[in-house]
Amino acid sequence: MSTMNLILMGLPGAGKGTQAQKIVEEFHIPHISTGDIFRAAMKNETEMGLKAKAYIDKGELVPDEVTNGIVKDRLAEDDTKVGFMLDGFPRNLAQAEALDQMLADSDRKLDAVLNIHVEPEVLVERLTGRFICRNCGATYHKLYHMPKVAGTCDVCGSHDFYQREDDKPETVKNRLDVNIKMNTPLVDYYQAKNVLHTVDGQQDIDKVYQDVQQILKSL
Ligand code: ADP
Ligand code: AMP
Repeated sequence: MSTMNLILMGLPGAGKGTQAQKIVEEFHIPHISTGDIFRAAMKNETEMGLKAKAYIDKGELVPDEVTNGIVKDRLAEDDTKVGFMLDGFPRNLAQAEALDQMLADSDRKLDAVLNIHVEPEVLVERLTGRFICRNCGATYHKLYHMPKVAGTCDVCGSHDFYQREDDKPETVKNRLDVNIKMNTPLVDYYQAKNVLHTVDGQQDIDKVYQDVQQILKSL
């Protein structure tokens, strides 16, 4: 297919970012993570970043009008003409409906929603063990996905890693509660549109990617 318009869905820690990195490498579509956009805005202390921080620090969702506006602007950029992969958006039904409108207005449609399914019990350990390369954003885990050479990023060779502020145990619980509540209606919404593909996210990272590849190649 010429374009590929995707959503990567899954609870926090399900493995969206990890799989997104592989998808981008193979399929060359822009990766649009609302969480990454918020973190960049917080780091640069923009007005939007400061506003978002109050919610993110508590594990709450940033209000829809802010989030929808960001996605709308991003999807208006030229590089999304070949397709896009949304990660972490939509996170509730109102956002899903807003996205439908954005796509209809620009004469585009969704090709697939990849739903990475992981049981909630597994996610606390995924999130609290996550660490990230400060230079390129590659994601690791202290038990499940260590860099090949200790202390050196596989992707860019940097030695500088950090833990996300909202991956501390105090925030993780509320984040999971908030997202679990919103998740089922979203799954149902995309199931009803016949675009939902669910993959088992509790397999090894490479096996999850094999399942993802199979779906994407069948589109
Ligand atoms: P998300 O973007 O959905 O929040 P990440 O891709 O950042 O999730 O993954 C969360 C954590 O779990 C990271 O530390 C990552 O290395 C680890 N992880 C991702 N996929 C798997 C997997 N299939 N098995 C074990 N750990 C994984
Ligand atoms: P993530 O990187 O996807 O785990 O997102 C980190 C945080 O950013 C979330 O806990 C929310 O506070 C905020 N966020 C990211 N995406 C959205 C969204 N679609 N709607 C509302 N808030 C979001």
